[in-house]
Amino acid sequence: LTSRLQNVFGKLKGKGKVTEEDVNEAMREVRLALLEADVNFKVVKQFISTVKEKAVGQEVMKSFTPAMVIIDIVNKELTELMGGTQSKLEKSNRPPTVIMMVGLQGAGKTTTTGKLAKLLQKQNHKPLLVAGDIYRPAAIKQLQTLGEQLKVPVFSLGDQVSPVEIARQGIELAKKDHHDYVLIDTAGRLHIDENLMDELKQIRETVKPDEILLVVDSMTGQDAVNVAESFHAQMELTGVVLTKLDGDTRGGAAISVKAVTGCPIKFAAMGEKLDALEPFHPERMASRILGMGDMLTLIEKAQSSIDEDKAKELERKMRKAEFTFEDFLEQMEQVKKLGPLDQIMDMMPGMGKMKGMKNLNVDDKQMARVVAIVKSMTTEEKQHPEILNASRRKRLAAGSGTSIQEVNRLIKQFDEMKKMMKQFSGMMNNKQMKKKMK
Ligand code: GDP
Ligand code: MG
Repeated sequence: LTSRLQNVFGKLKGKGKVTEEDVNEAMREVRLALLEADVNFKVVKQFISTVKEKAVGQEVMKSFTPAMVIIDIVNKELTELMGGTQSKLEKSNRPPTVIMMVGLQGAGKTTTTGKLAKLLQKQNHKPLLVAGDIYRPAAIKQLQTLGEQLKVPVFSLGDQVSPVEIARQGIELAKKDHHDYVLIDTAGRLHIDENLMDELKQIRETVKPDEILLVVDSMTGQDAVNVAESFHAQMELTGVVLTKLDGDTRGGAAISVKAVTGCPIKFAAMGEKLDALEPFHPERMASRILGMGDMLTLIEKAQSSIDEDKAKELERKMRKAEFTFEDFLEQMEQVKKLGPLDQIMDMMPGMGKMKGMKNLNVDDKQMARVVAIVKSMTTEEKQHPEILNASRRKRLAAGSGTSIQEVNRLIKQFDEMKKMMKQFSGMMNNKQMKKKMK
């Protein structure tokens, strides 16, 4: 492996030190990218100056370029900005652990309550949901439906009893029935107002929650951060849940929330479905924002839903960029198991960009055609795509009921994918190498 690595990096000449010029140039781009992502202006300013300070004068190891050193620092600082390490849920040493969900209307409180129950359930906990939103029409029903889907009980006293009383009795029931977690869903308003805050404070005083999680819609960018700031000032939040990250590719709220409020992001929600909630990993979010793709999450996901050997094998192949059409087909089929293609593509390094390219429009129908083309290949063609000349391509089109253009497009995509994997394996190796050198 070492000799391979030396090969890859032997070509890149080290420059001795990172100069101020190198840094300024890189930071111009980073600054623009952050502002475009709707990151708070002050946060950007502070961030840029920290990175500059750390980067200028850094020794560049023989095998790296200044850009690599800078990217590494940006990555680390971005991670730091978002809290550094994963911030876990508090756990009461006298169960039940009480979690109160708060936030504006439509932020995703009720949905997140359901998702969190599912996550806890997976860890063998026994949550109880408490329907504390008596104002929004059908809010109770919404929680009950989620509870039915999850087979998690929902405590409700209808909409004529005060939320404070509902919360209090909910916890009593949880104790009696030995639930180790209680999740209290509460009402939201369109804007922060005093009535809302008063009610939430009363609930807080009554149930003394171990966690007060603010649910915010990440698509609202800096507004999400402002909301977090006001709620934190009044409620002393213990954590933030960012929702709708599936719709927010810019990640601005994720970057600013911790820096502005001091409150850690504990979970990230990336879809409407019940399993679309994950513990928030600052490091992964940082690399994702940097466009390197959230490879760790992808591999983790792959490991839980694909058979583990296959995932490892795939990872090995990606590293080595030994990738054939057989792997491509297998991967396509496994990827289907992982979830919506768009989401997966976002997590793959470089894929985020590729999605925008005209010739890579992934939808499931198209995928079926791709599979048909690959299945028409002989074993030799799958393993050595370079032999696919014009007449073979013609045969493939006929055999799969597609057109030559489609076959050509697929082969082109395949080549691009392979190229990207090579690049990515370079990056991964680079990381490993750095670890070794430390
Ligand atoms: P609440 O008023 O805060 O309780 O918000 P709800 O839980 O009722 O959610 C409001 C809407 O946002 C619903 O249509 C949810 O399906 C949707 N939603 C919640 N979380 C997410 C998410 O992570 N991604 C997407 N795309 N939609 C979400
Ligand atoms: Mg609700």
